[in-house]
Amino acid sequence: MTSEPRLLEVRKNVLKQNDILARALRDRFRAQHTCVISLVSSPGAGKTALLERTLTLLKGQYRVAALVGDLATENDALRLARSGVSVKQITTGAICHLEAAMVERALEGWGVDELDLLFIENVGNMVCPASYDLGEDLRLVMLSVTEGEDKPLKYPTIFNSADVAIITKCDLAAAVEFDEGAALANIQAVRPGMPVFLLSAKSGEGMDNYLQFLARRVHRKCSAVDESTSPAEVH
Ligand code: MG
Ligand code: ZN
Repeated sequence: MTSEPRLLEVRKNVLKQNDILARALRDRFRAQHTCVISLVSSPGAGKTALLERTLTLLKGQYRVAALVGDLATENDALRLARSGVSVKQITTGAICHLEAAMVERALEGWGVDELDLLFIENVGNMVCPASYDLGEDLRLVMLSVTEGEDKPLKYPTIFNSADVAIITKCDLAAAVEFDEGAALANIQAVRPGMPVFLLSAKSGEGMDNYLQFLARRVHRKCSAVDESTSPAEVH
């Protein structure tokens, strides 16, 4: 049988092509000084709720927009648009993750070159988004207190592809007897040193620390010297 190796070859090429596009996106975002933050989680972990709250709280300080991926429906984009910022839906059809090419296409003619901050909400999926670089600066992996503390152990690859973990729906922690210590230990077991934020987009608990963290990342990017075009500085 030769179909297995051929499929593998096709998959390798798709990923390679994605990496090339993601690198081009990253260069473009660097040149524009746009900080790009993506969100990944299982369906229902609260990506859209957190994003809606985040956009509402940041829009006064930053030029911010959001791309949101789903298999079908524009529901999340409509919901996020309530924040008053520019939002665009990417409907992926049968594809269960976002790819760099979809991000590139969504940016075409959108008129968002002057952004400080762009959020990308991935399709709810803990598996294949791990393999697709979107050119983002920061990837947030989310898990809600209702999901079970062993999620990081079951999906180590997505935790390893991310930079920050966010435990959501903290307002429900007591009701579901969430074991915070176990969740934190499991995150550190798969990704030692990973920063973790515990928060509730609903109650607002823990939002300050998380927003301050994002603000520091945005400032670092906005004030960064574009090394690809600027002459070297001598100190
Ligand atoms: Mg959503
Ligand atoms: Zn997928």
